Amino acid sequence: MLDGVVSLSACDAPLLQPVWDGIRERSGVRAAPLWSACLAFSAHVLFSTLFLGLDVLGSRVPWISRYRIHGKPVTVRDWFRCLARISWKYALCVLPVSACIGFTQTRSGFAQHERAAAAATAPSLLVACLECFSCLLVFDTFFFVAHYTMHRIPWLFRIFHQPHHMNRHPFALAAQDSSITELVSQQLLAVWSTVLVGCHPLSEILFHLLNIWLAVEDHCGYDFPWALHRLLPCFGGAPFHQAHHQRVTGNYAPYFTHWDLIFGTAINT
Ligand SMILES: [Zn+2]
Ligand SMILES: [Zn+2]
Repeated sequence: MLDGVVSLSACDAPLLQPVWDGIRERSGVRAAPLWSACLAFSAHVLFSTLFLGLDVLGSRVPWISRYRIHGKPVTVRDWFRCLARISWKYALCVLPVSACIGFTQTRSGFAQHERAAAAATAPSLLVACLECFSCLLVFDTFFFVAHYTMHRIPWLFRIFHQPHHMNRHPFALAAQDSSITELVSQQLLAVWSTVLVGCHPLSEILFHLLNIWLAVEDHCGYDFPWALHRLLPCFGGAPFHQAHHQRVTGNYAPYFTHWDLIFGTAINT
Protein backbone atom coordinates (compact mmCIF):
# COMPACT_ATOMS: atom_id res chain seq x y z
CA MET A 1 0.00 0.00 0.00
CA LEU A 2 2.91 2.31 0.61
CA ASP A 3 4.99 1.19 -2.38
CA GLY A 4 5.15 4.73 -3.74
CA VAL A 5 6.77 5.94 -0.56
CA VAL A 6 9.30 3.08 -0.68
CA SER A 7 10.85 4.40 -3.88
CA LEU A 8 10.99 7.96 -2.49
CA SER A 9 12.88 6.84 0.59
CA ALA A 10 15.10 4.12 -0.79
CA CYS A 11 18.13 6.05 0.45
CA ASP A 12 17.43 5.18 4.10
CA ALA A 13 16.59 1.50 3.46
CA PRO A 14 19.95 0.18 4.79
CA LEU A 15 19.24 1.68 8.24
CA LEU A 16 16.85 -1.12 9.20
CA GLN A 17 18.46 -3.84 7.06
CA PRO A 18 20.86 -5.16 9.78
CA VAL A 19 17.96 -5.35 12.24
CA TRP A 20 15.82 -7.19 9.71
CA ASP A 21 18.67 -9.55 8.74
CA GLY A 22 19.16 -10.42 12.42
CA ILE A 23 15.47 -11.18 12.84
CA ARG A 24 15.32 -13.30 9.67
CA GLU A 25 18.34 -15.33 10.83
CA ARG A 26 16.33 -16.24 13.94
CA SER A 27 13.17 -17.03 12.00
CA GLY A 28 13.19 -20.53 13.54
CA VAL A 29 12.43 -19.00 16.93
CA ARG A 30 9.83 -16.67 15.46
CA ALA A 31 8.14 -19.61 13.75
CA ALA A 32 6.94 -20.84 17.14
CA PRO A 33 3.16 -20.22 17.37
CA LEU A 34 3.55 -18.82 20.89
CA TRP A 35 6.15 -16.26 19.81
CA SER A 36 3.90 -13.20 19.56
CA ALA A 37 2.09 -13.87 22.86
CA CYS A 38 5.41 -14.50 24.66
CA LEU A 39 6.80 -11.28 23.18
CA ALA A 40 3.69 -9.35 24.27
CA PHE A 41 3.94 -10.65 27.82
CA SER A 42 7.73 -10.17 28.15
CA ALA A 43 7.72 -6.69 26.59
CA HIS A 44 4.82 -5.64 28.81
CA VAL A 45 6.56 -6.77 32.01
CA LEU A 46 9.89 -5.28 30.88
CA PHE A 47 8.42 -1.87 29.98
CA SER A 48 6.37 -1.82 33.20
CA THR A 49 9.43 -2.61 35.31
CA LEU A 50 10.91 0.77 34.30
CA PHE A 51 7.98 2.43 36.09
CA LEU A 52 8.18 0.06 39.08
CA GLY A 53 11.47 1.73 39.99
CA LEU A 54 9.77 5.15 39.87
CA ASP A 55 6.81 3.86 41.94
CA VAL A 56 9.12 2.50 44.65
CA LEU A 57 11.35 5.59 44.75
CA GLY A 58 8.50 8.06 44.22
CA SER A 59 7.54 8.46 47.89
CA ARG A 60 11.15 9.33 48.79
CA VAL A 61 12.13 11.44 45.79
CA PRO A 62 10.07 14.66 45.42
CA TRP A 63 11.27 15.08 41.83
CA ILE A 64 9.40 11.89 40.85
CA SER A 65 6.22 12.45 42.87
CA ARG A 66 5.88 15.89 41.28
CA TYR A 67 4.96 14.17 38.00
CA ARG A 68 2.49 11.67 39.48
CA ILE A 69 -1.06 12.19 38.23
CA HIS A 70 -2.73 10.62 41.28
CA GLY A 71 -1.52 10.60 44.86
CA LYS A 72 -2.16 6.92 45.62
CA PRO A 73 1.18 5.19 46.22
CA VAL A 74 1.89 1.96 44.31
CA THR A 75 3.56 -0.69 46.46
CA VAL A 76 5.69 -3.66 45.43
CA ARG A 77 2.87 -5.83 46.82
CA ASP A 78 0.32 -4.19 44.44
CA TRP A 79 2.75 -4.78 41.59
CA PHE A 80 3.33 -8.50 42.27
CA ARG A 81 -0.37 -9.20 42.88
CA CYS A 82 -1.11 -7.63 39.50
CA LEU A 83 1.72 -9.65 37.90
CA ALA A 84 0.25 -12.87 39.35
CA ARG A 85 -3.22 -12.04 37.93
CA ILE A 86 -1.82 -11.34 34.45
CA SER A 87 0.50 -14.38 34.49
CA TRP A 88 -2.19 -16.98 35.18
CA LYS A 89 -4.45 -15.48 32.51
CA TYR A 90 -1.62 -15.72 29.96
CA ALA A 91 -0.68 -19.25 31.06
CA LEU A 92 -4.23 -20.61 31.09
CA CYS A 93 -5.74 -18.91 28.09
CA VAL A 94 -3.84 -16.25 26.12
CA LEU A 95 -0.86 -18.51 25.29
CA PRO A 96 -3.01 -21.54 24.28
CA VAL A 97 -5.28 -19.31 22.14
CA SER A 98 -2.20 -17.74 20.51
CA ALA A 99 -0.85 -21.24 19.79
CA CYS A 100 -4.15 -22.12 18.07
CA ILE A 101 -4.08 -18.90 16.01
CA GLY A 102 -0.42 -19.55 15.07
CA PHE A 103 -1.26 -23.12 14.08
CA THR A 104 -4.19 -21.91 11.93
CA GLN A 105 -1.96 -19.30 10.26
CA THR A 106 0.68 -21.94 9.49
CA ARG A 107 -1.94 -24.24 7.98
CA SER A 108 -3.36 -21.43 5.83
CA GLY A 109 0.07 -20.17 4.72
CA PHE A 110 -0.26 -16.81 6.51
CA ALA A 111 2.35 -17.50 9.19
CA GLN A 112 4.48 -14.47 10.01
CA HIS A 113 7.76 -16.40 9.64
CA GLU A 114 6.80 -17.44 6.10
CA ARG A 115 6.16 -13.82 5.14
CA ALA A 116 9.42 -12.86 6.85
CA ALA A 117 11.34 -15.41 4.77
CA ALA A 118 9.76 -13.98 1.60
CA ALA A 119 10.64 -10.34 2.42
CA ALA A 120 14.42 -10.15 2.10
CA THR A 121 14.61 -6.35 2.02
CA ALA A 122 13.85 -4.26 5.09
CA PRO A 123 11.43 -1.36 4.77
CA SER A 124 12.94 2.10 4.77
CA LEU A 125 12.78 3.95 8.07
CA LEU A 126 10.15 6.31 6.67
CA VAL A 127 7.95 3.46 5.45
CA ALA A 128 8.31 1.61 8.77
CA CYS A 129 7.24 4.79 10.63
CA LEU A 130 4.30 5.41 8.30
CA GLU A 131 3.16 1.79 8.55
CA CYS A 132 3.42 1.82 12.36
CA PHE A 133 1.45 5.09 12.49
CA SER A 134 -1.20 3.67 10.15
CA CYS A 135 -1.49 0.51 12.30
CA LEU A 136 -1.87 2.70 15.40
CA LEU A 137 -4.67 4.71 13.75
CA VAL A 138 -6.51 1.53 12.72
CA PHE A 139 -6.02 -0.13 16.13
CA ASP A 140 -7.18 3.07 17.87
CA THR A 141 -10.39 3.01 15.79
CA PHE A 142 -11.09 -0.69 16.48
CA PHE A 143 -10.40 -0.17 20.19
CA PHE A 144 -12.61 2.95 20.40
CA VAL A 145 -15.60 1.09 18.91
CA ALA A 146 -15.11 -2.01 21.12
CA HIS A 147 -14.45 0.03 24.27
CA TYR A 148 -17.43 2.38 23.71
CA THR A 149 -19.72 -0.62 23.08
CA MET A 150 -18.60 -2.35 26.30
CA HIS A 151 -19.35 0.80 28.32
CA ARG A 152 -22.78 1.25 26.70
CA ILE A 153 -24.04 -2.35 27.21
CA PRO A 154 -24.10 -3.17 30.96
CA TRP A 155 -23.73 -6.97 30.67
CA LEU A 156 -20.80 -6.62 28.26
CA PHE A 157 -19.15 -4.21 30.68
CA ARG A 158 -19.74 -6.48 33.68
CA ILE A 159 -18.43 -9.66 32.07
CA PHE A 160 -15.59 -8.41 29.86
CA HIS A 161 -14.40 -4.95 30.91
CA GLN A 162 -15.10 -4.43 34.62
CA PRO A 163 -11.95 -6.34 35.75
CA HIS A 164 -9.81 -3.66 34.03
CA HIS A 165 -11.70 -0.93 35.91
CA MET A 166 -10.85 -2.50 39.27
CA ASN A 167 -7.74 -0.29 38.87
CA ARG A 168 -9.18 3.15 39.68
CA HIS A 169 -5.65 4.52 40.07
CA PRO A 170 -3.78 2.53 37.41
CA PHE A 171 -0.07 1.86 37.30
CA ALA A 172 2.08 0.67 34.38
CA LEU A 173 1.56 -3.09 34.83
CA ALA A 174 -2.23 -2.65 35.06
CA ALA A 175 -2.35 -1.99 31.29
CA GLN A 176 -2.93 -5.73 30.84
CA ASP A 177 -4.83 -6.32 34.08
CA SER A 178 -7.98 -7.22 32.13
CA SER A 179 -10.34 -10.14 31.62
CA ILE A 180 -9.06 -13.03 29.52
CA THR A 181 -11.51 -12.16 26.75
CA GLU A 182 -10.27 -8.57 26.66
CA LEU A 183 -6.61 -9.65 26.60
CA VAL A 184 -7.22 -12.01 23.67
CA SER A 185 -9.43 -9.56 21.78
CA GLN A 186 -6.86 -6.76 22.11
CA GLN A 187 -4.21 -9.03 20.61
CA LEU A 188 -6.56 -9.92 17.77
CA LEU A 189 -7.37 -6.24 17.12
CA ALA A 190 -3.63 -5.50 16.94
CA VAL A 191 -3.07 -8.37 14.48
CA TRP A 192 -6.06 -7.34 12.33
CA SER A 193 -4.74 -3.77 12.24
CA THR A 194 -1.46 -4.94 10.69
CA VAL A 195 -3.33 -7.17 8.22
CA LEU A 196 -5.58 -4.28 7.17
CA VAL A 197 -2.61 -1.94 6.67
CA GLY A 198 -0.70 -4.73 4.88
CA CYS A 199 2.60 -3.71 6.37
CA HIS A 200 6.06 -5.26 6.21
CA PRO A 201 6.69 -7.96 8.88
CA LEU A 202 9.36 -5.74 10.49
CA SER A 203 6.90 -2.82 10.75
CA GLU A 204 4.46 -5.32 12.26
CA ILE A 205 6.94 -6.20 15.04
CA LEU A 206 7.73 -2.53 15.65
CA PHE A 207 4.02 -1.70 15.82
CA HIS A 208 3.36 -4.45 18.39
CA LEU A 209 6.23 -3.17 20.56
CA LEU A 210 5.07 0.45 20.19
CA ASN A 211 1.51 -0.59 20.99
CA ILE A 212 2.64 -2.31 24.21
CA TRP A 213 4.77 0.70 25.20
CA LEU A 214 1.91 3.17 24.61
CA ALA A 215 -0.50 1.01 26.66
CA VAL A 216 2.04 0.97 29.51
CA GLU A 217 2.54 4.74 29.21
CA ASP A 218 -1.27 5.27 29.23
CA HIS A 219 -1.52 3.52 32.59
CA CYS A 220 1.80 4.56 34.17
CA GLY A 221 0.28 7.31 36.35
CA TYR A 222 2.96 9.89 35.43
CA ASP A 223 2.72 12.97 33.24
CA PHE A 224 6.34 13.51 32.22
CA PRO A 225 7.31 16.48 30.00
CA TRP A 226 8.89 14.08 27.49
CA ALA A 227 5.85 11.76 27.22
CA LEU A 228 4.56 11.23 23.67
CA HIS A 229 1.33 13.18 24.28
CA ARG A 230 3.42 16.25 25.19
CA LEU A 231 5.33 16.00 21.91
CA LEU A 232 2.33 15.08 19.73
CA PRO A 233 -0.88 16.88 20.76
CA CYS A 234 -3.03 14.34 18.85
CA PHE A 235 -2.19 11.78 21.59
CA GLY A 236 -4.11 11.76 24.88
CA GLY A 237 -1.49 9.96 26.97
CA ALA A 238 -1.66 9.03 30.64
CA PRO A 239 -3.81 12.01 31.84
CA PHE A 240 -6.43 11.22 29.15
CA HIS A 241 -6.70 7.53 30.08
CA GLN A 242 -6.37 8.21 33.81
CA ALA A 243 -9.54 10.37 33.58
CA HIS A 244 -11.34 7.40 31.99
CA HIS A 245 -10.32 5.11 34.87
CA GLN A 246 -11.40 7.60 37.52
CA ARG A 247 -14.78 8.54 36.04
CA VAL A 248 -15.49 5.20 34.27
CA THR A 249 -16.83 7.10 31.28
CA GLY A 250 -15.51 9.12 28.29
CA ASN A 251 -12.09 9.12 26.64
CA TYR A 252 -12.71 5.71 25.07
CA ALA A 253 -9.89 5.79 22.49
CA PRO A 254 -6.60 4.39 23.81
CA TYR A 255 -4.11 6.75 22.14
CA PHE A 256 -5.48 9.44 19.84
CA THR A 257 -8.09 12.00 20.89
CA HIS A 258 -9.92 12.61 17.58
CA TRP A 259 -12.66 9.94 17.93
CA ASP A 260 -13.67 11.16 21.39
CA LEU A 261 -13.71 14.77 20.16
CA ILE A 262 -15.80 13.85 17.08
CA PHE A 263 -18.35 11.79 19.08
CA GLY A 264 -18.47 14.17 22.05
CA THR A 265 -17.14 11.61 24.53
CA ALA A 266 -13.96 13.50 25.45
CA ILE A 267 -13.74 14.45 29.13
CA ASN A 268 -11.40 16.91 30.80
CA THR A 269 -8.13 15.55 32.16
ZN1 LIG B 1 -7.04 1.26 31.12
ZN1 LIG C 1 -13.18 1.42 30.09
